[in-house]
Amino acid sequence: MPSPTQTLEFQAETRQLLQLVIHSIYSNKDIFLRELISNASDALDKLRLESLTDTGLDADTSDLHIVLEVDAQARTLTVRDNGIGMTREDVVDLIGTIAKSGTAGLLAKIKEAKDAEAAQSLIGQFGVGFYSAFMVADKVTLRTRRAGTEQGTAWESDGEGTYTIAEAEGLPVGTSVTLHLKPADSEDGLGDYLAAWKIRQIVKQYSDFIRWPIRMATEAAGTTGDTETGVGEDSESAAEDTAPRELETLNSMKALWARPRSEVSEAEYHEFYQQISHDWQAPAETIHMRAEGTFEYEALLFVPAHAPFDLFSRDSKRGVQLYVKRVFIMDDCDALMPNYLRFVKGVVDAHDLSLNVSREILQHDRQITAVRRRLVKKVLGALKGVQSNRAETYAELWEQFGRVLKEGLLEDRDNTDALLELVSSASTHDPEKPTTLREYVARMKDGQDTIYYLTGETRAMVENSPHMEAFTAKGYEVLILTDPVDEVWTDQVPAFDGHRFQSIAKGQVDLDEADGDGDDEAKAEKAQREQDFAALIAWLQNNLSDHVKQVRLSTRLTTSAACLVGDAHDLTPTLEKMYRAMGQELPPVKRILELNPTHPLITALRRAHETNADDPALTDTAELVHGSALLAEGGDLPDPARFTRLLTDRLTLGL
Ligand code: ADP
Ligand code: MG
Repeated sequence: MPSPTQTLEFQAETRQLLQLVIHSIYSNKDIFLRELISNASDALDKLRLESLTDTGLDADTSDLHIVLEVDAQARTLTVRDNGIGMTREDVVDLIGTIAKSGTAGLLAKIKEAKDAEAAQSLIGQFGVGFYSAFMVADKVTLRTRRAGTEQGTAWESDGEGTYTIAEAEGLPVGTSVTLHLKPADSEDGLGDYLAAWKIRQIVKQYSDFIRWPIRMATEAAGTTGDTETGVGEDSESAAEDTAPRELETLNSMKALWARPRSEVSEAEYHEFYQQISHDWQAPAETIHMRAEGTFEYEALLFVPAHAPFDLFSRDSKRGVQLYVKRVFIMDDCDALMPNYLRFVKGVVDAHDLSLNVSREILQHDRQITAVRRRLVKKVLGALKGVQSNRAETYAELWEQFGRVLKEGLLEDRDNTDALLELVSSASTHDPEKPTTLREYVARMKDGQDTIYYLTGETRAMVENSPHMEAFTAKGYEVLILTDPVDEVWTDQVPAFDGHRFQSIAKGQVDLDEADGDGDDEAKAEKAQREQDFAALIAWLQNNLSDHVKQVRLSTRLTTSAACLVGDAHDLTPTLEKMYRAMGQELPPVKRILELNPTHPLITALRRAHETNADDPALTDTAELVHGSALLAEGGDLPDPARFTRLLTDRLTLGL
């Protein structure tokens, strides 16, 4: 004889939580289905496990599954599983209370939280799970029978303060949760959860990779309409109903990442990649890993063969999705992949997170940080592998993603060395072929201890810059860096393999010394030159003080008369331009004018200055020398019209 229905009160904390859920912490109500399916899936896992370990258990595990049933007339949606089920005590303990410690304190905090977003991030710390049903239902009925027991239990609540519990006869093993849906237009954002298309869509989005089939009872072919019609009074046991219904499986169940690597074919990886990336081309590299221990997760990551069109747009998304035990949690999981690896696509399935985990919480979770560190190492290692073994593929990858990877040199100090190993750069060594830094270092001349580079807007500008002259003449290799990010990382990364990076357009260079030619004779010669030019230099410095901060003799020029250089920490002209383009106010960056003491123009200028320091033509010449140096490196003249006039006058005189 069934015992009479008992009415029980929810535990105080549970009641508070229910109020919060009902009054909608979540803007996205669709997730109630994800929660119920995840519970059903857990219950199926548990039954299978128990049937394996407890041979005495008399349970049918031949067709473990989840069924979704709609009764449009009664406005109910039922989630049914033939999993482990619950005893009456289980129901009271698990559904009637929140067993998790610290809940009360947390709830107090949630109440203090000013806005929904803050509340949501707090609530992510524990699972709302089953209660999310009350976001969409004004009454929930649960019927369940524990495997290995005879007595079934029915539980019902409107989510207010109490629930009823009663014995129920004739239930199959497993659990069914029936939601009596609120009217569709009762609240904003309440979807039409009776519509088959809507259910299909939610399952596809959140539960596609659940390992058990999720079936939906739809009307047999021949009948029409998207919404299911009722199946009579006994709608709660529709599965046993004889109405012509077909069971459609909604989920693919193919969570490749959960399978051992050895059992997944290349074609399957590609198909999966295509599905998550919508990229028709096969990925350049696949990374499949599993971590066991205190924090278990699986990761299946892909390096695409080509960059998406929005790689550099401000709101370009990160490509890694987060799952928790095969339940989709979020796209674009920034906690798992740094910005500079935003092109990596894939899935991370973490086993020990709450389904309600928020971005906020992930950002501060120590274990997630550890996962991210490991994934980054894996990706960088995989790229290194491509570089070593598939040079051609690597060249293309670098072409596509090199600029983004170099952002890592600014963002990720922990992996500077690994990133520098990946850098591929144009170089004066071989105009046809880029070089790695390691190759550069191997070719360095005796006595050379720094890595020379020059940045600029285009390759031609860099290659033809006057700064290159002495380096080319003396056979020093110079890296040609033309990505905007190069302007920045070269300043911030201290060294590669113990060798500093040195811009050939910055600071003093003394190639003679580097060459080992700095003997006494050369030194004396140099001192003499300094003396010879001292008066001209002082005069020029004074004359050009609006444009340059210093004038000095150069050791880097062979054929040009003059060039402009910066101090070690000065902004480069390209960087200055970039900042101005972004709207930043900057004081004018003055540079250093270097003169080639062997150039006929400079020696003639010196003589003219010695002869008559007050000749007005000298001032014009000084301006022309400065302007030409600016033009030679691709810079912009402060007053192009004036420069052209001075030059035209000079040319006319010379004819
Ligand atoms: P969580 O899943 O995070 O534990 P829930 O609120 O979703 O929290 O569920 C609470 C508990 O109720 C579950 O841990 C489980 O023990 C039990 N439960 C919920 N749904 C089912 C189900 N369909 N079958 C068996 N047990 C269930
Ligand atoms: Mg749950």
